[in-house]
Amino acid sequence: MPIENIVEKELGTKSKKDIEDMGVEKFNELCRSKVLGYVSEWEKTIHRLGRWVDMKHAYRTMDKEYMESVWWVFKELWDGGYIYKGYKPMHICPRCETTLSQQEVSEGYKDIKDISVTAQFRVQDTELKKRLVGDGDAYLLAWTTTPWTLPGNVLIAVGEDLEYTIVKLGDAHFIVAKDLVMTNFEGKEFEVMSQVHGKDLAGLYYEPLFPYYADSENSFRVVTADFVTTEDGTGLVHLAPAFGTDDYEVFRKEHVPFIQHVGMDGVFKKEVTDFAGLHVKPVEDHMATDIEIVKWLAHNGKLFAKKKYEHSYPHCWRCDTPLLNYATDSWFVDVTKVKKTALKLAEDINWSPAHMKEGRFGKWLEGARDWSISRQRFWASVIPVWQSEDGDQICIGSVEELETLSGQKVDDLHKHVVDKITFEKDGKTYTRVPDVLDTWFDSGSMPYAQVHYPFEQKEAFEQGFPAEFIAEGQDQTRAWFYYLHIIASAIKGKPAFKNVIVNGIVLAEDGKKMSKKLQNYPDPMDILNKYGADVLRFYLLSSPVVSAENLNFSERDLNDVSRNVFRMLWNSYSFFTTYASIDNWSPMSCHSRAGGNPGSENSLDPRVKPEDDKSKNILDRWILSELQLLIREVESSMEKYELSKATRAFMPFIDNLSNWYIRRSRKRFWKSEDDNDKENAYQTLYAVLVTLSKVMAPFTPFLSEEIYRNLFSCHSREGGNP
Ligand SMILES: [Zn+2]
Repeated sequence: MPIENIVEKELGTKSKKDIEDMGVEKFNELCRSKVLGYVSEWEKTIHRLGRWVDMKHAYRTMDKEYMESVWWVFKELWDGGYIYKGYKPMHICPRCETTLSQQEVSEGYKDIKDISVTAQFRVQDTELKKRLVGDGDAYLLAWTTTPWTLPGNVLIAVGEDLEYTIVKLGDAHFIVAKDLVMTNFEGKEFEVMSQVHGKDLAGLYYEPLFPYYADSENSFRVVTADFVTTEDGTGLVHLAPAFGTDDYEVFRKEHVPFIQHVGMDGVFKKEVTDFAGLHVKPVEDHMATDIEIVKWLAHNGKLFAKKKYEHSYPHCWRCDTPLLNYATDSWFVDVTKVKKTALKLAEDINWSPAHMKEGRFGKWLEGARDWSISRQRFWASVIPVWQSEDGDQICIGSVEELETLSGQKVDDLHKHVVDKITFEKDGKTYTRVPDVLDTWFDSGSMPYAQVHYPFEQKEAFEQGFPAEFIAEGQDQTRAWFYYLHIIASAIKGKPAFKNVIVNGIVLAEDGKKMSKKLQNYPDPMDILNKYGADVLRFYLLSSPVVSAENLNFSERDLNDVSRNVFRMLWNSYSFFTTYASIDNWSPMSCHSRAGGNPGSENSLDPRVKPEDDKSKNILDRWILSELQLLIREVESSMEKYELSKATRAFMPFIDNLSNWYIRRSRKRFWKSEDDNDKENAYQTLYAVLVTLSKVMAPFTPFLSEEIYRNLFSCHSREGGNP
């Protein structure tokens, strides 16, 4: 959950205004303190899991250095002509009062029940109307799934070449697409009067459905548009220019007034007298307002039909409020401009699993639209653009630039601080544009900002870019992976990473999302304490979750891994140490190695020659050959970043070692005389265990460390206790 939401939840703020009332400064400082709390929590878990993370050099997106690099990235894009400001219909969250990107919208689709209406618009008496339907009442039928947009209606669109039917029902005439007559009039006693084309209807005027904007010029008429279809509804589309992409295009072409009858907070404006103050999609009951609209239409003789139906509707990923399509200002990254380069560069990236490359990621990249990067929020990096009253804009790419221009020391780049900084240039005063940046802009700037590039560590950056590999969940094909790639393509002309491991989601055993409320999964800390981190690591690494598929977490399966892999390996290891201790056995090379350095590069090479060269025993030859095959399999899978394939290779090997090699060789260790064969058995098993501990180390670091250290510390073994 984003920090802002956690803080909002604790404060109990209901709207954006509540935050503004308490002060952005206070709100942002609370956010800062929360971040620090989570960092230490995370550190504990990471350590317990045996992950190597450079916590000492951890970056935080809220640090001044990080934020400065984000400014630099923004300015690189700005200088490259990749940033523009546009007025477009976008999805907004009325509660957060902010715009959302295409990716954020795609994350929040849910099936909900809604109410659709077919409204009847009374045609005005004109020559054209007389010619088409003669005397008497005539109505245009338009269908909408968003009744709350009807008070903002200014036009009705028809398809130029589509066929329309004039239907008589009672004394009135209705105009509807020919293909949709039955859908709308089934069961009614109607009469087909005549057929016309859409272009014949263009130019008809109708009475406004609601009185609030009745004196709008040039409005309330029928126009043609190419997006009209006869797939559903009536074949006539009600247009409210402020609330849809298609609608907005027509509005620009037809020069009708831009009516925005709902505010950015999702509330009807005061001139919409019958509904003023109502939320158009209330969170607690999203149909409530639409039902009020339907009632009003029915009461005023303007409702033709209504219907409940289910559809997929986008919700805010932050707060679950139904989103609205709303025309507003936004800053964009011109993805269209960089797309060709980005597609070309994407060819060099290796994906695990491979189908992600052309599939999820490739498709998303191909269909990518310009990236809306401005948010009307508080706790985030800001848009580093200062603007004068006459609209001149200066993009600032570093703290130094801002200090020079303003003559002020700048210690913090958060909104509540930099909003107070203004400067004069050529007799004009510049103030910052109020928006902050999409948090994905921060995440996408990570390769540069984590090392404060280019202000510091230029060399470290060059060495680590593009990254060798990155790993995240499959939803990131549309988010982090994507934004990293877009930014790197635009400002570096390189991909940001060479390899990607895509993870699936760990679900509860019943296949549902893990949910605190349902308590359908065991506490991760209990699991770690009961089975150990290695078992959990091995279980996850060998599962489909490391190749972008979902895993139903099962403690039973975890237990199987514990028994079939770990206990078996530990028993093999115990077998060896028990007999080695009884016989006071030590490896031939122990003497030299004890004085040497077990951590040297050579000794960590898993292919260190086992000291078996002399053994002709078939069991020894066999297990050593299996060991080499295992090494090859693990190595080649790891080269391709196929983690589960690499991990699964250990299972048959450990089984072979325990159930075949040791079981068949047992008697060789039991013999009382110290002959060559016994020595060979010891040497072989020792070599296998040492090598195995090294090969397994990245997968099961704790167990490997234990085995490796015990087997390698010759001195302690001389004391008889390996
Ligand atoms: Zn929201």
